[in-house]
Amino acid sequence: MKVTLQNLTKKFPNRNKKVKGDVIAVDDVSLEIPDGTLVGLLGPSGCGKSTTLNLLSGLLQPTEGKIFFGDDDVTRLPPEHRGVGLVFQNYALYPHRTVMGNICFPLENLKGEQKLTKQQMQEKALEVAKLVQIDGLMERKPNELSGGQQQRVAIARALVKMPRLLLLDEPLSNLDARLRLQTREEIRRIQRSTGITTIFVTHDQEEAMSISDLIIVMKDGAIHQVGKPQEIYDDPIDLFVATFLGTPPIHVFDANVKGEKLYIGGKAVLDVPGVADQDITAAIRPEGFELDENGAFEAELDRVEVMGRDVSVVCRHENCQADAIRAIIPSDAQVDTAKATVRFDLKPGKVYLFHKETGKRIRVEG
Ligand code: ATP
Repeated sequence: MKVTLQNLTKKFPNRNKKVKGDVIAVDDVSLEIPDGTLVGLLGPSGCGKSTTLNLLSGLLQPTEGKIFFGDDDVTRLPPEHRGVGLVFQNYALYPHRTVMGNICFPLENLKGEQKLTKQQMQEKALEVAKLVQIDGLMERKPNELSGGQQQRVAIARALVKMPRLLLLDEPLSNLDARLRLQTREEIRRIQRSTGITTIFVTHDQEEAMSISDLIIVMKDGAIHQVGKPQEIYDDPIDLFVATFLGTPPIHVFDANVKGEKLYIGGKAVLDVPGVADQDITAAIRPEGFELDENGAFEAELDRVEVMGRDVSVVCRHENCQADAIRAIIPSDAQVDTAKATVRFDLKPGKVYLFHKETGKRIRVEG
């Protein structure tokens, strides 16, 4: 099912007397989510991710704007009639019920024609339990399950009514690193096999990048960019998006452009055709450095860290806004660690320019 948000705004009353005006948690968001996609809603704490999810589920009513499921305007529809499955960070399972009892729970409230017999409920529960691979644990209580298994029960419970839309709010944050990896693959697999349009909220960019068809990057209640993970990584619309995606993060420099050349620390490091003379913020991805003893970009060499396939050249530059630069280069490149400095060529496709004040991207021609 396609989901459309139309000029959606959510304001909360501000209880802080010193600050005037409402808290704008979601600020005029318009967006179309294609049917069957897995969407990662990504942004820093407080950017409005959970509020957006709660507006979609119907737990919150928008101050302005509309929500459509397919062609239906569901803005005023109560949550129980929206056909939405919800999974929260704390799995919120019923401790005294078995796995079977927990998964059956949403089916017990069905009324009229939809009402099911106990056997029908259990058959449906078993079906989704198989999908999330917990069908061998149906008689256990939640405290007899691992965190990952509990999360699967929560997902099965959200799926049992075959929702039109599945919403996951930080579903992996209570899991340890290994389980997080495994469970995120699971979410991808379950989403593929059910084809249910799914939105999952995370503040972890790597998590969002790894499994999403589409990523929505939010900040301060507004959407900064929507796109496929690789597209957003390769072509960030502004400095916020550029710095939010990528590990190690992009390196940001105070720089300037003069005569269509980019200067960092007084040295011309790259041709930037079509860019007017100005002070600028330049950002370079860690893989944007190419070792070259005659390279135009020179930095103070600190150390080389071996990472297996690649090495990380840790160096410093006075114009870099971070303490250290991590240039990721192939492990067969020879860095002369006896030298005080290291030189690189910059790969044009990995260097981005941003307006110094607004942070908006400045495009280089060609
Ligand atoms: P996190 O990742 O920390 O959960 P989030 O991106 O999900 O953050 P929201 O929970 O959507 O952010 O909150 C967005 C903004 O709205 C925040 O500034 C928050 O303080 C504010 N907010 C959320 N709920 C309320 C409320 N009931 N009353 C007042 N302000 C609220």
